Formats: sequence, C-alpha cells, structure tokens
Amino acid sequence: MQRQTSLTHQIQKAFKKLIGGFVALSFILMSTVIAVATLYNQERETQKYLELITAAFDIELNNAISQTDLLADTPLASLALEGSVGRDVYLNSLVREINNGRPHKIELYDFKGRPFISANTTTDKTDISEVLQDAIQNGALRSRLSTGRYDPILLAAFPIISARQGKPTGYAVLHFEVNHVLEHFQLPKDMNLKVLDTPSGENPSILSQLFTRTASSSVRAQHQGHTVALHFELSERTWDNSLFAFGMILLLAAGFLLTLERANRWAANFGDRISERLGNVLRFSREILASDKAKDLKPDTEPDEIGALSISLEELLRKERNYEQKLFNASYTDDLTGLPNYRAFKEKLAERIASEGPGASFCVLFIDLINLKGVNEAYGYEVGDQAIHKAGAHLAARLPEGHFLCRRSADEFSALIDDPGSSEALIQQLDRVITDAKVSVGHTTRTITTLQFSIGVARYPKDATNERDILIAAGAALQECKKTRRSRVILFDERIQKTVIRKYILQQKIKKLLDEHGFFLYYQPKVDMRNGQIVGFEALVRMPDPDEGFISPEEFIPIAEEANQIEYLTEQLLQRLLHDRDTIQSKFPGTKLSFNISTRLFNENRFLKIAADTLGEAQEDYTGIVFEITETELAQNLQVTLTQLSAIIGLGAEISIDDFGKGYSSLSRLADFPVHELKIDASFVRSYDLTSNDKMIRGIVGIARSLGLEIIAEGVETKSQEDMLILAGCFKAQGWRYAKALPLHEVLRLPGKITLRDE
Ligand code: C2E
Ligand code: CA
Ligand code: CA
Repeated sequence: MQRQTSLTHQIQKAFKKLIGGFVALSFILMSTVIAVATLYNQERETQKYLELITAAFDIELNNAISQTDLLADTPLASLALEGSVGRDVYLNSLVREINNGRPHKIELYDFKGRPFISANTTTDKTDISEVLQDAIQNGALRSRLSTGRYDPILLAAFPIISARQGKPTGYAVLHFEVNHVLEHFQLPKDMNLKVLDTPSGENPSILSQLFTRTASSSVRAQHQGHTVALHFELSERTWDNSLFAFGMILLLAAGFLLTLERANRWAANFGDRISERLGNVLRFSREILASDKAKDLKPDTEPDEIGALSISLEELLRKERNYEQKLFNASYTDDLTGLPNYRAFKEKLAERIASEGPGASFCVLFIDLINLKGVNEAYGYEVGDQAIHKAGAHLAARLPEGHFLCRRSADEFSALIDDPGSSEALIQQLDRVITDAKVSVGHTTRTITTLQFSIGVARYPKDATNERDILIAAGAALQECKKTRRSRVILFDERIQKTVIRKYILQQKIKKLLDEHGFFLYYQPKVDMRNGQIVGFEALVRMPDPDEGFISPEEFIPIAEEANQIEYLTEQLLQRLLHDRDTIQSKFPGTKLSFNISTRLFNENRFLKIAADTLGEAQEDYTGIVFEITETELAQNLQVTLTQLSAIIGLGAEISIDDFGKGYSSLSRLADFPVHELKIDASFVRSYDLTSNDKMIRGIVGIARSLGLEIIAEGVETKSQEDMLILAGCFKAQGWRYAKALPLHEVLRLPGKITLRDE
C-alpha cells in the first residue's frame, strides 16, 4: 500500500531540500569569497606597508652610503689617517656632524683597523672587528648585519684610498641603525619586521599563512661596484582577521538558518492551508456524490487554482449525477407508460422486505390486461399501445394510495400495495380497480373500449416470506386467473400453492428424465375411415413416472416450456423420430409421421434451429414428416411465421394445422401459408350432434378442399362420429376408435389395415 504523506510534508521536504542546497552552496561560496577577499586585502596591506618601509630604508641607506663614501673620498680623511695635520680638529667635527641625529653613525679606523675616530654606538665589537678584518683582507667594501644583543645594525666597512699611495690608508665603518629608520613608522603591534643580510628563503606553511601574512623586500646601495643590501620580511598576524571572517561566516550561517526556519514554517503553513482547502474540496465533492446537495459545505471560491478546481469539480459531479439520474431513469422506466419497469419493481420489493423487516405486510399484484390482443387485432398496434398507456394511467389512478406500480411486460403490470388486512377488504379494493375501465383510444376513430384486467395477488408474509417466492405466488395466482377464468381477481391460496409445488416437482422430474433420455415417443395411427388403411402416425411424447405411470404432456409440456427444458426435450424427441422413421415407413410404406412443435419454440422462432441442428452432419432431411403447429401460431407475426414455415418445408417436412377451428381463427390468412393439412379439433368431433359443430366441420372441409389441403379429424372414438365425418367429406381420422398411441414395438405389430367390428 502506498503510504500517504500530507501535502504540507511534501512541500516542506521539497522546500528544505531546495533551501538547504541553496544555503549550503551560498555558505561555501560566501565563505570562500570572504576569506579570499580578506586575505587578499591583507596581503595588499602588508605589501604596501613594506613598500613604504623599503622606500624609507632605500633613501636612508643610500644617503648613509653616499655620505660615508663622500667622507672616505675626502683627501682630508686620507691625509689625516696618514698622520698629517688637522685630523682631530677637522675630521672629528666633520664626522660628528655627519653622525648627528642620523640613523647612521660613521667611525674611522686606521689601515690596521685601529680606531681613529669613534662614535657612540652599541654595536657588537666582535662584529665590527670581523667586518673590518674582512675589508682589510680584501681591500674592498664589506658589509654585514649585526644582530647581537641589541637592535639590528648594518655594518659596512669602506676602505679609504690614499691618493698618493694608491692603497687604503684607513677604513670608514658605517653603523646603520635599522630601528632608527623604523621609528618613523611605529609598526602596529601585529606587525613584525625582520631584517636580514641574506634573504631567508623560507616558505611559510599554508596553515601559518592563514594566520600570518609575510611580505619580503630588499634595499641595495652601490659603492665602487660592491653592493650593500638589506632584506626585510614584514609579517603581520592575520588570525584576528580570519577570526573576523569566520565570525562573519558564522553570522551569515545563523542568518541563513533563521531564514530557513522561517521559510520552513511558511512552507508548513502554506502546505497546511492547501491541504485544508483540498480536504474541504474533497469533502465537498463527497457530499455532492452522496446526496447531490452539499448541505453544510460550500465550494472553495478563492480566486486560485484550488478554487477553480473546486468549482469545476462541483459542476462535473452535478453533471455526472444528472447523467446518472438519466441513465437510472432510462434503465428503470418503461418508455410507453412512463411507469417504473419490472427491474425497478423488483428492487423496490427487495428494499421493502429489507427495510420493513419481519413486520412487513403488503400485497404483490400481477395484473394482466386481458383483451390487449383483441384491441391489437381489431385496431392495430398503435391503438394497442394507447390502450396500454391508458391502462397504466387507469391503474395508477385506481390503486390505493401509496402503491408502487410498474409495467412488467407487454400487457402485464405489477404493483405493491399495503395489505388492508382481510381478504374481503382486499378484493373490494381490487374490484374497484378493475371495474368500469372504459377508455377512448384511436386518434381518428375515438373508439371507446373497456379494458379488462385479471389480477393475481400474493400477500407478504402470509403467502411467502421472500422476494422470489412472493413473485412466484403472485404469478401463480394470475396464472390461475387466466386458466380458470373463475374470477377476475384471485388471491393466492393453498390450492394454487399446490399447483406451484406440483410445477416445481415436475420440473425436477423432467430434468432427471432428460438427463436419462427417459422420454418415450409413442405413435398413434391415422386411418382412412373408409377402409381402415393406416395412412400415417402422430408421434406423441410419453413421460413415464414411477408414481403416476404416465404424466400427461398437456401438463408437463407447458412446464417444460416455462423452465426452458423444451428445447432439449424437442431435440431428443426429434432424434428418436428420425431414428424410428425408416423402421415405421418400411413396415407401412407411404405413411407419414406427424410431430408436434412446441408453441413456445415456434413463437420464439427457435424451432427451426433445433430441427436443423438435429439433422446435423447426416445427409438426412425431414422427408415423410409432418410438423403440427396449432392454429394460434398463424396469428402471430405474419412475415416471421411465413419465413419459418418456408424454412421448415425447405428441410423436407410438411405442415399441418393442429386443433383447427378451436382457436381464434384467421381463416382469411390460411391461403397465405404453405400448409399441407388441416386437423379438425377433437371438440367438434366429440359433440358432433350439435348442428353448429356439424356446420363447422363441413365449413372446414370446404376450405380444405378449396385450398387443396388434406383434411383429418382427431379424437374419433365412436362409429357415429366416424359416420358423421365421412358424411361431411372428411375421410381420414385419428382416435381411440382405431388405436391409442403405442410404443414402437407395438406399432410394428399392427396390420396395414385396422378393421373394426361394427357396434
Ligand atoms: P394433440 O396434438 O391434439 O394430440 C392429440 C391428443 O389427443 C393426444 O393426447 C392423444 O393421445 C389424444 N387422443 C387421441 N385420440 C383420442 C381419442 O379418441 N379420445 C381422446 N379423448 N383423446 C385422444 P396426448 O398424447 O396426451 O397429448 C396431448 C397434447 O400434448 C397433444 O395434443 C399435443 O398438443 C401435446 N403433445 C403431445 N406430444 C407432444 C410432443 O411430442 N411434442 C409437443 N410439443 N407436444 C406434444
Ligand atoms: Ca397434435
Ligand atoms: Ca390436436
């Protein structure tokens, strides 16, 4: 799982990283700049100072050298040294004047180095004699720095050359007092000047350079090709400056840290604020999602991106809700009536059971608009639709207050109403709903028609205690209504419950038999009544049952149709039929086998595929087979019926109209269909003595003749029925008079002609 980090935290983190990096970098940069600048400045200062000192020394030294030189060059000096006159008087005062107040003192020595005129100096005596001896030995200028116990003094011994003798007659010794020159400069405490006679050549370490700056320079004076030099090293303590720089850096760092801290706090506040506002936006949108109206919350309206987000989110969510509402309406509403659809009804039912708990008490109504088919056929589908619409409106107006009404399918409605308590009260309420439902339909004709309803009722929790069972119960009650027509309103009761249970048991048995391929196909002969000749057989399914012997197809076929078991059953029976066909037809040449098509399969256009699939790979077709469909199927969609019939005929079969004359006859359409045979319904045969039935039979025979169709009667049990049919012109028949439906092995034992003893 991804860990959640708050926006604030993220902003702070990013901020810290950014500012931290920035601070670190600037810290390093600034430190470097400050250090370099300080040290560079320092260096320049030291250098400058040294230059000044050097210049002063330069002047003073050259002055001293040239004065000494001048004195040494004076003929008087050499004369005096040679022992001539005026040496004390003149030379003494001259030297004294030169030495007065100057940083240098001059002394005179004779050619052997013995003092001649001395000055008041603190110079180390050994140093003097050494430099003197050096000059005497070389006969040239010699210098050295005396750094004895006292201040540093530059010593220089000059030979005084006699003009007459051309060789030194004595020596002038210059004492150049370094400190005397420096007095003018008053070196600051942190500066230290080192005077050397040769350059020190020291390389200060980097570390020491951090704390002291050293600059060096030299001054030189020339005398007769000899150089007198002094070297200086000015060092300055800089660690206090470094300390200053370091302090500055620390201060800056502190400043930065302080800024960082403040910035961090700002980032935190900013982040918190953003988080809070986003949180509000989130809550707001959730609120809208949950209730479609954010009651307490308002969108963020600040003029920034979050505000904009909040507002557009609100719009988006509202649109989405609208869209959802529309979708919801579309999937939960019936277009024609504007009522909720069955899906909405089922949800409402589930909700009612869930929310009202054990105390729930209500009725589920299944309402059928009985005469819609008649309206459709009489006035067309458009008027039929109007009738449905009006039926919805009528029910909505008449059903008791607080009902929930939906359109369940074409001509069926469902409703939930409160249970008034007694059955009488309930029936009274519903009678009011179904009576006097006169409506006008048709734009031009303004036909007044009476809507007829049947209502099946189941009560919760009396009849069932769950959603599925109460729907089954209401459906069963309505079924009972339709089937028995004993009343227009039927409440679910024990008897209906038994049929429901029976239906369930039969479904289980059918399933088991299908799995075992346990259904039989029996064959009932069709005979030519005039001579007893067998002309065909009708295949009839038989359902063996250990408890009941055989269960009637009239009972189990509709159940198999309802439970979608009919498809598989038909497939199994067709396989058997194809299998038996050759056996029967070789025993009874020229006979045809009839097979009943399930009404449901034919109406739903599913039979053709099963019939074709059953043929499979085999190079077979349905030659010699007659498919029986009931007359009502012809009344369905003309084009679909025609196409299906033609396709079935294409497979080699013929078509027979079963139970002809019994249903809602569309005799006029008969000519349009590719039919081969009419089968007169047994009801006309059974009560042949009614003149109306006799007329009916004659009529059917007439139609069959004029359309060139075969004609056969079924349910013939007696000789008189047979006679009547022959008289009416119907010669073929099927009935117990000749044989019941028989298993294959018994069929095969039948003679070609069934001869009957006359009663
Ligand atoms: P149906 O197609 O009208 O079949 C004729 C019914 O009348 C058969 O009942 C038959 O046994 C019965 N019957 C024949 N002669 C007489 C007679 O002289 N007197 C009386 N009272 N009845 C006679 P069954 O076999 O019980 O079939 C009932 C209905 O079940 C059939 O009516 C047919 O609609 C359906 N059915 C039967 N077999 C199949 C089948 O294989 N597939 C489909 N889809 N439906 C079948
Ligand atoms: Ca039949
Ligand atoms: Ca029949």
